[in-house]
Amino acid sequence: MNMDNNRVKILATVGPSCNNKKSLQKMLDLGVNAFRVNMSHGTKKQKTDKIKLIKTLKDKWGMSPCILADLAGPKIRIEKINCNPNLSEKDILTISNDPNLKENNDILVTQGFQFTDISEGAKILINDGRTSLIVEDKISPNTLKCSVVVGGLVEDRKGVNFPGISLDIPTISDQDKDDLIMSLNEGVDWIALSFVRSAEDYKKIKKIMTEQNIHLPVMAKIEKWEAIQNLDSIVESFDALMVARGDLGVEIPETRVPLLQKKIIETSNSKGKPVIIATQFLENMVENPFPTRAEVSDIANAIYDGADGLLVTGETAVGKYPLKVIEILQNVIKDNENVNLFYGNYLPEEVTKTAEGISHAVSQVSKNLKISAIVTMTHSGGTARMISRHRPKSPIIALTPFKNIARQMSILWGVNAIVVGKYKDIDEIPALCRKVLDEKKLIKDGELFIFTGGVPMNVAGTTNYLSIQKK
Ligand code: PGA
Ligand code: MN
Repeated sequence: MNMDNNRVKILATVGPSCNNKKSLQKMLDLGVNAFRVNMSHGTKKQKTDKIKLIKTLKDKWGMSPCILADLAGPKIRIEKINCNPNLSEKDILTISNDPNLKENNDILVTQGFQFTDISEGAKILINDGRTSLIVEDKISPNTLKCSVVVGGLVEDRKGVNFPGISLDIPTISDQDKDDLIMSLNEGVDWIALSFVRSAEDYKKIKKIMTEQNIHLPVMAKIEKWEAIQNLDSIVESFDALMVARGDLGVEIPETRVPLLQKKIIETSNSKGKPVIIATQFLENMVENPFPTRAEVSDIANAIYDGADGLLVTGETAVGKYPLKVIEILQNVIKDNENVNLFYGNYLPEEVTKTAEGISHAVSQVSKNLKISAIVTMTHSGGTARMISRHRPKSPIIALTPFKNIARQMSILWGVNAIVVGKYKDIDEIPALCRKVLDEKKLIKDGELFIFTGGVPMNVAGTTNYLSIQKK
């Protein structure tokens, strides 16, 4: 291994533009750290096939890459359009989710809830806010008469948002449950839940995982106004966060997204939870082979803000230049992630747990001494996560006997996860570490490295020792 792996991680959405082995392998070779399978699109078979295909890829260690299965969650979409899809200003139409209604049923949307809290004057946004309507009258609990404020082409499956309104729609639909069970059984590494509204949503996912007896970490996609109000408890409960700017900028005014991005990153960093920023990084590259200056600047700023990873969505899923997108991302990351601006910026006000103290000390020592690598042996990935949140200057090498844990760690800032053989005794660990450093040519003789971890080994969350060693 060379140490010039990117620290800020790249996540790419798989879609028609790259859904073949050759393209995906190239994307992986160009530096993708995790692939996202968006469960909002496709049949069950298509989604299963995508996961199976990604599992056939091999990274430079011979490992299959990390897969994030992204559940659609309580998103309302257009199910059927019974009117001219080209909406013009002042057009009058109905939005309904009553499938039995024969007349005045111009746009049929997701069923299973009623428009309880919606009244005259409420705003409805379609297709990421490109088209907007205003409610003129509530004809029935399931049907709204609306007039078009900003026209545009609406299509099947496009999202419909009701900003500022609480909808009585379940967190996990039947489809989500199906997708989750399939994903768990196909061996994905992370689950993301769209439109999280409260910390309670975590328990609902975990309940299904308990029934299946397969537990994976769950990422909360922050894209609802309710999630902003419950941010602290959501960060506390979930295992990771995503700033899903596409829908977030529709649910709340888009002008508030930049500051919220910083706030969500800061809150996540302080709790040691990985945080991914998503959407429109390279929107221009859906059609063109180059980014705008503003896009490059946005990527760099997400890096300076302290994101663990950056997720591209439409750019690789439906764009014309999926490979170029990864190249550009990689170049912007390389040129900006080593800016001293943000290293070790997170300093806990007080250290209340041993693990916090040790991980803080690791980052301080690596800042002051010339440390070539921070090496840790981790069973749950917890130690790597605790160290990563300090954004230390030295590369983090996380050794683990478990392939799935190694894959889960691939979205953590600065972490290089390596699978090692099993060991019987903790006394074997230092020798095992040196062997890996040697084999992979990670550091040279005479250089210093930090060795940190927890004893006893098989208890998660016990990061309790730090030692500085010379190779
Ligand atoms: P989506 O999530 O692509 O599943 O909508 C990302 C976002 O909303 O930004
Ligand atoms: Mn979204």
